[in-house]
Amino acid sequence: MLERNKMYVQLPFEELKVDPNQKKRIAYFYDADVGNYAYGAGHPMKPHRIRMAHSLIMNYGLYKKMEIYRAKPATKQEMCQFHTDEYIDFLSRVNPDNLDMFAKEQIKFNVGDDCPVFDGLFEYCGISGGGSMEGAARLNRGKCDIAINYAGGLHHAKKSEASGFCYLNDIVLGIIELLRYHPRVLYIDIDVHHGDGVEEAFYTTDRVMTCSFHKYGEFFPGTGELRDIGVGKGKYYSVNVPLRDGIDDSSYKSIFEPVISKIVEWYQPSAIVLQCGGDSLSGDRLGCFNLSMAGHANCVNFVKSFNIPMMVVGGGGYTMRNVARTWAYESGILNNVILPGELPYNEYYEYYGPDYKLDVRPSNMYNSNSPEFLNKILTNIISNLENTKHAPSVQMNPVPNDAEDLGDVEEDTAEAMDTKGGSEFARDEQTQPLTEFYDDDNKDDGEKNISVHDKHSMDIDNAPHKQESAPTAEPPSQPEQHNAAAPSQQPQHSSATVPETSKPTIVPEPSSQPPHTPQNESSSGVTLTEEEMKEIDELNKSQ
Ligand SMILES: [Zn+2]
Repeated sequence: MLERNKMYVQLPFEELKVDPNQKKRIAYFYDADVGNYAYGAGHPMKPHRIRMAHSLIMNYGLYKKMEIYRAKPATKQEMCQFHTDEYIDFLSRVNPDNLDMFAKEQIKFNVGDDCPVFDGLFEYCGISGGGSMEGAARLNRGKCDIAINYAGGLHHAKKSEASGFCYLNDIVLGIIELLRYHPRVLYIDIDVHHGDGVEEAFYTTDRVMTCSFHKYGEFFPGTGELRDIGVGKGKYYSVNVPLRDGIDDSSYKSIFEPVISKIVEWYQPSAIVLQCGGDSLSGDRLGCFNLSMAGHANCVNFVKSFNIPMMVVGGGGYTMRNVARTWAYESGILNNVILPGELPYNEYYEYYGPDYKLDVRPSNMYNSNSPEFLNKILTNIISNLENTKHAPSVQMNPVPNDAEDLGDVEEDTAEAMDTKGGSEFARDEQTQPLTEFYDDDNKDDGEKNISVHDKHSMDIDNAPHKQESAPTAEPPSQPEQHNAAAPSQQPQHSSATVPETSKPTIVPEPSSQPPHTPQNESSSGVTLTEEEMKEIDELNKSQ
């Protein structure tokens, strides 16, 4: 057993440091349409914040360092790798004008107040999902070290239910894509809310470790207790860090870093997905934590320091100016740049008054997380993680070879795959996975390769692979009129643990599409047009 008394050590919070000589290849996904979708007047979730963040990112000049892409929207078929056909079909058909034809479905799929039907809902889901799936595909192909999709991170969405402002779970779709190539994926969630949708999707598997840091206790969605650690093969592969109001930079760092260090050391993920919900920032309209921008960004910097292929997605965040500031700052960190505190002029400059600074400062709110409380949590978590010390190895199913023509795979319809497992031909034409996924040099020789999955749970490896888009350039978008945020209520949900009935949702139907070779294999680099570069330079000059 572990020493139970002094696991938690409160670390001082220090200035963030990056190594300007370290070069990371970053693929940044942005679709200029995303800011045009609106949940409705007074709704706290505002996709416009993604456009605001993008504008800061561009005007700080980060486009010079990253590859910028507009992803192909996720298709219905791709969405159904996690969600039910019925639910996705509903999302694709419902709109504010035909809503009364779907009275029954609205209740069934939990669409209404928190998750309203708005114009373009399905397209919005497509953008969010497309970015995460393509980001994962680029990571899989070794085309980048880090993929960023701030339109993603919608962690509450369930297999056949909308929840907490989320309809499509882009994160689950992205992880399913990563699992085609990666034996173990770590999901980390720093949104103030529990990452329930992602946890539930992978609750019974050890292929994905989920770790959520969140406010727990009379707070949406009500799940994410310390004792919720996964079931079956997934036992010990869900980690929950339930926190109280007012956690500050120093306390958060002091619990985040040892938990993540131990997970990385023992679980040895080959890819990491980091959900960067901005509602854990101080002053969030719905949140109750007290993190500064640097305190939030420290998590990003810490996860990045492991040099493991990483996908960064957005999430919650309801004080738009602070979300935009933080995601811009974190994009800088990912590019090994500490952005200067003076905000560059941008289309949304007036949002950042009166100081016009790149910072989110903590308040003087009380921190209800005592060192004793955090020590209790940390010792419990580390003790559970002891059971994961020997990273589970995985018998990888073959991955389709991208370069080969698989010939006629007509019979691989979704239905055929579902009932018969697809054509022999498609299966035979698949290639062996990379052998480095096996921990042959693992020091724990006696324990390795003990956890071979059964066929059923491994069907996950046959998930189709996301087609990649050509790099694209998005012109800075035009400012728009925005209503002042009206106060709105925190969504009301009953407190409950992950229901017994939540079955694993990770047996995606294999693709009926032959793998796709992107047309732009050789293209790389930032691809803003001359005109856009000029426009940004003008904006900078006009300051
Ligand atoms: Zn949230």
